[in-house]
Amino acid sequence: MTKSEKQELIAQGLLLPLMEEFYTIQGEGFHKGTAAYFIRLGGCDVGCHWCDVKESWNAELHPPTMADVIVDHATKYSKTIVITGGEPLMWNMDPLTSKLKENGLQIHIETSGAYQLTGTWDWICLSPKKLKLPTEEVYEKANELKVIVYNKDDFRFAEEQAAKVNKDCILYLQPEWSKRDKVVPEIVDYVMANPKWKVSLQTHKYLNIP
Ligand code: SF4
Repeated sequence: MTKSEKQELIAQGLLLPLMEEFYTIQGEGFHKGTAAYFIRLGGCDVGCHWCDVKESWNAELHPPTMADVIVDHATKYSKTIVITGGEPLMWNMDPLTSKLKENGLQIHIETSGAYQLTGTWDWICLSPKKLKLPTEEVYEKANELKVIVYNKDDFRFAEEQAAKVNKDCILYLQPEWSKRDKVVPEIVDYVMANPKWKVSLQTHKYLNIP
């Protein structure tokens, strides 16, 4: 395959930088506890300093993989597929998600929402980041808003983001893992005082699974 053929397939979303794929339990948010097949795509330029998957940032490090191959793997495991990253919306998600839908799968995305929304989704988990804010379309379509709390200013940011999402969107505050000892009590107090919010924990990390 020539370099330009490869670039064309990437632009069409037929070739994607696959960082890893694994069958596990969704640990976070509304679907926590659900068995799911995770597809992690490389590439992210949002630059969160506390990011726990920095190795995803450089898409060049992850093998370009045909969407059909990813679908073949995914269909062997679970009815629920979670596409995450990195930032999966850096890529055209239309072919991958339509092929997964043809197989009758439920497709979820974990996204910062910073790029144009492509793909067909059964569940959109929007985790906005201050450095690169979501697009209007993602605010309108998000099913859950998951704000990561690293310090007190994140409560202000969470309210700002909650004011932008649609009225049915479920609101979660989730401690950043390395700050959990300090931040969990603050989140607990905040949610009791502001019960429109719920607590989300990275339960997969407590379960010691990926
Ligand atoms: S948006 Fe996600 S993958 Fe990208 S830097 Fe932030 S936490 Fe990491």
